[in-house]
Amino acid sequence: MNRLYHDSEDWVEQGNCRSYDPEIFFPVSSTGIGRTDTERALAVCRSCTVRPECLRWALRAGEAHGVWGGTTPEQRRYMRRELVPAS
Ligand code: SF4
Repeated sequence: MNRLYHDSEDWVEQGNCRSYDPEIFFPVSSTGIGRTDTERALAVCRSCTVRPECLRWALRAGEAHGVWGGTTPEQRRYMRRELVPAS
């Protein structure tokens, strides 16, 4: 974990996605017509140095749309279910 960015949102300025069309990070879907953009976005995230910070933020914020931290909305929903057991 990169402690330098842990408690702030400075990581946003370091994201690989800043050099790409934002639309690929918000495809219409993760499969079907939006699959190509989703795969392109996930490939950009793969080498992003602030991926852990980005994913942590998206999970905490409950971000329901788009690719964040190398995950799709479906993957984050699954992660949240695993992290926060139903009461
Ligand atoms: S992990 Fe992906 S969405 Fe998050 S800052 Fe990096 S490139 Fe952008």
